[in-house]
This record gives sequence, C-alpha cells and structure tokens, in this order.
Amino acid sequence: MGSELAEGGAKTGQIDDGIMTPELFVSLMNQFYHKGWMVGSSGGMAVEQDNLIYYSPSSVQKERLHGCDLFVFDNEKLTLIRRPDNPKIKESACTPLFNHVLNSVAGSHCVIHTHSKWANLITMLTNGREFVISHQEMIKGVFNPQSWKAYSYDDRLVIPIIENKPTEDQLLPALVDMLMDYKEAPAVLVRHHGLFVWGPTWEKTKIMTECLEHLFELSCEMIKHGIPLDSEHLSREGNVSVEK
Ligand SMILES: [Zn+2]
Repeated sequence: MGSELAEGGAKTGQIDDGIMTPELFVSLMNQFYHKGWMVGSSGGMAVEQDNLIYYSPSSVQKERLHGCDLFVFDNEKLTLIRRPDNPKIKESACTPLFNHVLNSVAGSHCVIHTHSKWANLITMLTNGREFVISHQEMIKGVFNPQSWKAYSYDDRLVIPIIENKPTEDQLLPALVDMLMDYKEAPAVLVRHHGLFVWGPTWEKTKIMTECLEHLFELSCEMIKHGIPLDSEHLSREGNVSVEK
C-alpha cells in the first residue's frame, strides 16, 4: 500500500483507463462472487462511462452472467438501449439507489453493492449509526468524495450505517439522508445486509471496496480480541491499548 493509490495510479502506470464493456463487467461480477461479495445472486454494480450506464441484472447468478444479461442505459438519449433477451430478467433492485448516488455525488461513476459476511457482521458488532476506524494502513485505499483524494493512515474514517428494509428500493430515503449528512463518506453500510461503495472510476471503486471489506473483516477480529478500532484508545507510544 502506498502513494500509488493516493496519486490515482498516474505515477505508476496504473491509470484508470479500463474501458468498460459487457465482457469486462461480467468478469468483474465473477471475481466479486468468488470474494464472497455476491453469493446467492445477491449484490450488484452500476458503471457509468461515455454516457452509457451498465447495470447488473437482479436474481441472476453473478458468477454465471453473460454480457447479454446486462442492462445498458444511454444517459444522453435517456433510453434503455440494451436489455436481456429473457423478459423475466429484471434490472437490479438497487437501480434506484445506484442512480441516486450517480446523480447526487459529483464525480461518481461507479457503485458496487456487496452482501459480504464481514460487512454484515460489523453492523451487528457496531452500535449506533457509524462505523469508525483509524490508524490502519488500508484506510489509505479509501477516497474522500469531497476531493476524491485518499484518506491518510491516521485519519478517522467514518462509514455511516442505515437500517435494513424488506426490499432494496425502500432503502432510498435513508440513503438520501445519509448522503446529505455524510458528504465525506464514499460508502454506506446497511445493517444485517451489506455495503454500498461509490467512486470516480470502476477501478477506484473496486479498490475501495476491497480495502473496506478488508477493514470490516479486520475490525470483526479486533472487536473479538477487545482491540479498540479508533484512535481515541491509542497509547502515547502509538499502540492500541487492549482492555483486559
Ligand atoms: Zn442488497
């Protein structure tokens, strides 16, 4: 981990220039399934590039998608230009949430939604409306949507938590409020459910999701061992004190 993330990769050759195609989209879905983010046909993604928005379908196994299973919306002509041949396949139930993020967070062009075990568990181990962590290396892979600059190791990263609802679209009012209240958060946790992450490119959003999922897994273990997550509990030597 290092400045290659903070600098957006431009100095290391990792430029965010991956052209989104249906084939790339479904290969990413396959990767995300194997990370445990999209099991049981859950989760999803929306990517906006060159006036097109690609959406994952609902209730289709994410590791077995084909390019023809995606929904593609033309953002200039405001029309759906491609949909699956099978009329039973519907667009992701998260589409209203994806659209709200893409329309209201300046510079955001990708949203990833996961149903990972660790994102779910951390919401049950965390009381209240916020997950807070500091002094962790992987915080440096998370971007502040106000500037799209990376957080620092010793920044206090705050990810809000909203309460789950019976259907994904019913999460929209809480998401709208959260985006107003937490303008520096690039993600939201949904209690007993999972995670939404947004970023300026699909590459950065994927990196952020990996870093956040790592932090959630680590945090579940830290809590199990009685290790505090944020800097208020750091000793003078910079070590985290463990209450026995
Ligand atoms: Zn979901």
